[in-house]
Amino acid sequence: METKFTETYPNVSEEGRETDCEKVVNLLDLIIDGEASSDEQTFFKAHIEDCVTCFESHQKQRLMKSLVSGHLKRVLVPASLASSIKAKIQQTA
Ligand SMILES: [Zn+2]
Repeated sequence: METKFTETYPNVSEEGRETDCEKVVNLLDLIIDGEASSDEQTFFKAHIEDCVTCFESHQKQRLMKSLVSGHLKRVLVPASLASSIKAKIQQTA
């Protein structure tokens, strides 16, 4: 079986040439943070309507961002649960 490393890094291109996908990848953070200009937003929206790859990475990025910023507290284990796990471990040890 031949392993194609190029498939792992689809966005690497020749120096000085930036594809639309690369532009979108670079814009992702600005878009999600709401810091992109209206030109950048227009370009971004037009591109993800045509490009499934960038659309999906936008979805993932947005999900990650919301996990990190807004919903992190829900992910944290409650102190009561943590101490009951500790107690179980001590009982069996
Ligand atoms: Zn794209």
